[in-house]
Amino acid sequence: VDALGAEFRSIQLHRYPDREALALREAIAAHHGVRPDQVFCANGSNEVIQCLLLAYGGPQRPVMVFTPTYELHSHIAKITGTPVIAGKRNDDFEVEPAEIARVVDVCSSRYGRRAPVVSFLCSPNNPTGGVETLDSLAAVAQMVPGLLLVDEAYGQFASSSAIELIASQPRLVVLRTFSKTWALAGLRLGYAIAHPRVIASMSNVALPYHLDAFKQAAGRLALGFDAEMSERVAAIVKERERLQRALSSLPVQSWPSQANFILFRPLSARGSEVWQALLERDVLIRDFSGSPGLDNCLRVTIGTPSENDRFLACLPEVLSGPAL
Ligand SMILES: *Cc1c(COP(=O)(O)O)cnc(C)c1O
Repeated sequence: VDALGAEFRSIQLHRYPDREALALREAIAAHHGVRPDQVFCANGSNEVIQCLLLAYGGPQRPVMVFTPTYELHSHIAKITGTPVIAGKRNDDFEVEPAEIARVVDVCSSRYGRRAPVVSFLCSPNNPTGGVETLDSLAAVAQMVPGLLLVDEAYGQFASSSAIELIASQPRLVVLRTFSKTWALAGLRLGYAIAHPRVIASMSNVALPYHLDAFKQAAGRLALGFDAEMSERVAAIVKERERLQRALSSLPVQSWPSQANFILFRPLSARGSEVWQALLERDVLIRDFSGSPGLDNCLRVTIGTPSENDRFLACLPEVLSGPAL
C-alpha cells in the first residue's frame, strides 16, 4: 500500500493506460522466467478464462471439466455459449486417464475430432486440494486435442508448477491470480502463461484498455514483494501440515492438500451439523456437504495459528455431537 501510494502521483489518470500493459507483463514474465509475449493479463483470472473461451469456445465448441472442481470454469463457459462436458474424479478426487479418454470420446463423437477445444484442470484443485504431477499433465496434454488449461490459483502453495512445462507444451495454458497468495483480491488481476499465439488470440477478444493504469502499476509493484509473499506461504504450509496431522487422529476422512485449505468428511456426524456447531463457536469454515460428489464434506481454510488452534479445540467436541 505504501509503495502504491508513492507511485500514485506519477500515474497519468488523464491518459488512457498502456493498452498492452507491457511493464506489468515484463515484470510477470521476469518473475516466471518466460517472455512478455507469453503473458496475458486480465481483471482477475476469471476474466482470463472468459477471454480464452471468447477466443476458442462458443456453440459446437465444447470444453471438458472434471468434477468436483472450481465451479466458475463451467459457469464462465456457459455464459460464453460454450457447451460443458463433465467427467468425474475418482473417490480420492483424482482424474484418471481412462476417464479423460472416455470424456474426450464423448466430446469428439458429439462435436467432431477437434473437441474438446479446452480441457480444464485445477491444480491444486479447489475444493479438494490435490495436485496433478508434471508427468501426468504432460501425458494429459498429449491425450487432449485442444488447449489444456491448468488453473493454478493456489499454485504457490504446491511443490511444483505447470509453468515448468510451458516451453515443451505449446497447447498448455497456466492460470495464475493476484487474488490468493498475493493477498490482492480487491485489485482484480490475474494472468495466463501460454504460447504467444494463444496470448495473441486472447488479446484479440479483450476490450481495448481493459486494464486500468492503477492496476497495472499495483500488480508490477506487488511482484517486488515476492520474498514477503513466499514467507507468508511457507508459514501457511507449515500450519496446513499441523492441521493435517491433527485431523488424522480424529473421526474424519481427509485428503492430502497442497493448497491453503483441507477438505475433510466427518465420519460420525452430519457435515452440515458440524458446520453449524462450529459457527456457533465463532469458527466459520465452508460447507460443501450438499455439493455433488462432495457428500458430507467440509473445507477448512488455513488461518492464523490462533485461529487454527481454536478450530482444533472446537472440532473434537462438535464431532461427538448428534450421531448420524
Ligand atoms: C479463487 C480462484 C480463482 C480466482 O479468480 P480471480 O478472478 O483471479 O479472483 C481462480 N481459480 C480458482 C480455482 C480459484 O479458487
